[in-house]
Amino acid sequence: MNNTTHGGLPHVLILGGGSLGLTTAEHLRKALGSDVAITVVDSRPYLTYQPFLPEVGAGSIDPRNVLAPLRKVLTGSKVITGTVSEIRNADKTVVVQTEGDAPLEISYDYLVVGLGSVPRTLPIPGLAENAIGFKWVEEAVAVRDRILSSLAEAASTKDAATRKRLLTFTFVGGGFAGAEALAEAQDMVHDTLRYYPDLHASDVRFVLIEAMGRILPEVGEDLGKFALNQLRERGIEIKLETFLNSCEGGHVKTSDGDEFESDLIVWTAGIKPNPVLSQSDLPLNQTGRLDCLADLRVKGEDGPVEGVFAGGDCTTVPDLASGEGKVCPPNAQHAVRQGKRLADNIARSIQGRPLVDYYHKNLGTMATLGMYKGVGTLFLGDRKIELKGLPSWLGARAYHVYAMPTFAKKAAVIGGWVAQAVGHRDILGIPESEEPRRAFELAAASTPKKN
Ligand SMILES: Cc1cc2nc3c(=O)[nH]c(=O)nc-3n(C[C@H](O)[C@H](O)[C@H](O)COP(=O)(O)OP(=O)(O)OC[C@H]3O[C@@H](n4cnc5c(N)ncnc54)[C@H](O)[C@@H]3O)c2cc1C
Repeated sequence: MNNTTHGGLPHVLILGGGSLGLTTAEHLRKALGSDVAITVVDSRPYLTYQPFLPEVGAGSIDPRNVLAPLRKVLTGSKVITGTVSEIRNADKTVVVQTEGDAPLEISYDYLVVGLGSVPRTLPIPGLAENAIGFKWVEEAVAVRDRILSSLAEAASTKDAATRKRLLTFTFVGGGFAGAEALAEAQDMVHDTLRYYPDLHASDVRFVLIEAMGRILPEVGEDLGKFALNQLRERGIEIKLETFLNSCEGGHVKTSDGDEFESDLIVWTAGIKPNPVLSQSDLPLNQTGRLDCLADLRVKGEDGPVEGVFAGGDCTTVPDLASGEGKVCPPNAQHAVRQGKRLADNIARSIQGRPLVDYYHKNLGTMATLGMYKGVGTLFLGDRKIELKGLPSWLGARAYHVYAMPTFAKKAAVIGGWVAQAVGHRDILGIPESEEPRRAFELAAASTPKKN
């Protein structure tokens, strides 16, 4: 695919249809109408609204309602479902692997890199084989299915050791994603136990392992301490300044000398930039990210790399609103707003107008920690307001519904919450969904063979 196939229009190639990529594509279309050709490449055919994943893991939101289908949202733009494997900016070409085809070589006039991040894992024995991340919808679904199935299995076994193992859930990393995922999951279990007369809350063990001396650094020290105390009061075991040493075969060993069996180990101990960036001739900084100028052009040794823009989790962008030397934290709040600025700056580049720097004042941070529970900060002008409990839970839900792409998905999420308020949350786990052909294979195996 080269520029001649775009009818002489400037071709903008967007890598990643996540928070940054989807917003850029939408706003570029609004800014330039049919005067631009846009292609979005993503290995998934949808955007995942990650801030809602903890509620998916807790059964409060249907998994499909946190996904925005790229082809439906980005009508008029070309969407390619494929995996970027190489960026050759010297040739203005990106290599994309698609199912069953020879690699596509896609050329561009303008490139937008929004390939996000991946979990930052460590070489801990057993981690790769036994743990699961919490960044994608299938992971949140699997965590929920595992927890709910474990309850059902534990209630039906007489073996004490098996029961203990089934009812021990381990989360590693007490930042936003980990603390929210754990707190929401614990709340779900607490709610679900009413249907399990054979199980008691004290049979269930939730463990959070955190290397630092605090959790939720994103909401500040005081609210982090408040959340820590609240979670401990709920019976969650939080091990601060503790490391996961190993988890071979689900046997967890921590640096404080503790050892226990756990059927579920969720790894949320930080992120790193998408490693595919190392397969590119674009300049990366020491952390493997693309350094951006304040106008979101990628920074080269001698100034901007012409025609290449980037943002979101795979970049380091100056945070002009926070002051000299500060950079934007990796979150959806920035990724979405960078996408809007980036779209406008590409339109300006095409029209020969001066670019504008990215400037966004932090609106605040809010975490839900189960039904009606949460912590958060809200900035109103220069005023910082700290929220606890119901107000922050309501604030977080309201903000994320506002930020979730498409009206249909917003409505579906709200509809699900209403249904849950009326009829309690769904308590079913379907671990068999990972092997949907198993029952059929068993049936086929029992069919007598033809002589
Ligand atoms: C559990 C959880 C909770 C969170 N809660 C909040 C919150 O409350 N508030 C907040 O502001 N932020 C939150 N975040 C962070 C926020 O979701 C991210 O910072 C944001 O999504 C980053 O946007 P992005 O566009 O850079 O990356 P993403 O949205 O991750 O998009 C990257 C896209 O690139 C695609 N991709 C990756 N590699 C390739 C490849 N090789 N080829 C093709 N496509 C590829 C991916 O499929 C993905 O669609 C949360 C994150 C998680 C995991």
